[in-house]
Amino acid sequence: MSQSTAPAVRTALITGSTSGIGLGIACALAADGCRIILNGLGSADQIADAVEAVRAAGAPDVVFHGADMTAPDQIADMMAMAAGSFGGVDILVNNAGIQHVARIEEFDPVMWDKIIAINLSSAFHTIRGAIGGMAARGWGRIINIASAHALVASPFKSAYVAAKHGIAGLTKTVALEHAMDGVTCNAICPGYGLTPLVQAQIPDQARARGITEEAVVRDVLLAAQPTKRFVTTEQLGALAVFLSSEAGASINGALLPVDGGWTAQ
Ligand code: NAD
Repeated sequence: MSQSTAPAVRTALITGSTSGIGLGIACALAADGCRIILNGLGSADQIADAVEAVRAAGAPDVVFHGADMTAPDQIADMMAMAAGSFGGVDILVNNAGIQHVARIEEFDPVMWDKIIAINLSSAFHTIRGAIGGMAARGWGRIINIASAHALVASPFKSAYVAAKHGIAGLTKTVALEHAMDGVTCNAICPGYGLTPLVQAQIPDQARARGITEEAVVRDVLLAAQPTKRFVTTEQLGALAVFLSSEAGASINGALLPVDGGWTAQ
């Protein structure tokens, strides 16, 4: 299939977009004119707030699908809804993710399976559901929100680091398979941002390391980040918008660190 230009109105599906980075990227793509399909967990109020934020950012259309990213049949239902309502997904952002911090010998096997399912396998299922339509239309963007932990490791995060290294491999493979179809697949690899996911792990890190929560922020989270600043959701949203533009068409199979220099060390 030869490459064509983007549809006049692009449809973007962002998994895990009821909070944090996913919601920030949804708002950035909405401001860039995309229809938005939101997904994620949360209370009715949290979901309504996310829908409202995306609408206020400028989305011409917003829908929510509550597919649980551990459930392939629910993911298939979400992809079918996208095809039925909007003719498919033009921009797929695989962002849903969870964290669990523990020494390997104490790591709960149930948490291992859950992290691999949400942080890695869900992206396989969404890509499988979206990429045929992208290739047929000759235009598509897949953006996997990986992590600096797709490039380097830290102790006590075996499942997370394994899943993020896995998504780096998935990104490169998908990029190669559809390089001639106008479809790109890249991974954004953020350093630490102060989202609910990071806030929640501060007490666990403190317990695992036997230090105070203040020391976790100073000596663990920002220790590796040379800028000593958290990455913002606005910065990540702007990169997603760029990758989804025509200017981003030759960026393919890339693992893009947005980490203040962490992985340069
Ligand atoms: P967050 O906790 O604010 O958001 C996670 C989102 O995933 C939420 O919308 C949540 O509802 C959703 N989610 C969780 N389990 C789900 C499930 N089973 N089904 C559907 N949705 C589910 O976290 P965040 O920091 O915004 O993280 C978003 C992504 O960015 C993750 O993949 C994370 O690994 C990655 N990341 C975050 C940081 C950081 O410092 N915050 C750094 C690098 C990478």
